[in-house]
Amino acid sequence: MPAAPQTVTCRGERFRLYLDEETIQSRIQELGAQIDADYADVDTPPIFIGVLNGAYIFTADLMRAVTVDCEVDFYKLSSYGAAKVSSGSVTLKKGIDADLTGRHVIVVEDIVDTGLSMRYVLDQIAEKNPASLKSASLLRKPDGLKVDAPVDYLGFDIDNLFVIGYGLDYGQIARNLPAVYILDEDEA
Ligand code: 5GP
Repeated sequence: MPAAPQTVTCRGERFRLYLDEETIQSRIQELGAQIDADYADVDTPPIFIGVLNGAYIFTADLMRAVTVDCEVDFYKLSSYGAAKVSSGSVTLKKGIDADLTGRHVIVVEDIVDTGLSMRYVLDQIAEKNPASLKSASLLRKPDGLKVDAPVDYLGFDIDNLFVIGYGLDYGQIARNLPAVYILDEDEA
C-alpha cells in the first residue's frame, strides 16, 4: 500500500490525514469478525442496507470482511450538497427493493453526525417488520448527535470536524481517497 499523503487540498481547502488505510481496514476486519459471531446461528442470511452515496465503499469492505452468507441492498438519501454542515432534514431518493419482513437487517452508514439519517432509515426499516435490526457506521461524531441513533458496529468516534475520503465527499468529489482526511483546524 503506498503511503497516503499527509495533506490534501479539496475545493481550495486543506485537509490532513486522519485515519489511514491500514487503520480503517484493520478495524473493519474486527467489525466483520464481530458480525460473523453475532450472525453465526441465524436462520436467514443477514442483509446489509447501505446508505448511498457515502457508505458504498464501507459497505463493500464490511461485507468482504464477513464470511457468513449475506445479502446487500441500498437506500439513497439526500446529501449535504456542497455544504459542510447538515441541512437538518432528510429526503429519501431511493427506497429498498428487497422485502425486509422477517429479515436480519444491518443498516450501514458512512458517518453518524446529527444522527438524523440513521434514525430515519432505522425508523423506515422498523416499519417493515424485520426479524432483527442493527446498525453499523464507519465514523461517528459524538458531539454532533441531536437524536438517538444507536450504532451497534462502530468503526471510530471522531472529532466534530468535516471529513472527506473513503466514500465521503465534499461537493461530490474526494470519495475516491483511500484514507479519511479531516478539515485542518486552521480552516474550520
Ligand atoms: P447526519 O444525518 O447524521 O447528520 O449525517 C449523515 C450524513 O451526512 C452522512 O451519511 C454523510 O453523508 C453526511 N455527513 C455528515 N458528516 C459529514 C462529514 O464530516 N463529511 C462528509 N463528507 N459528509 C458528512
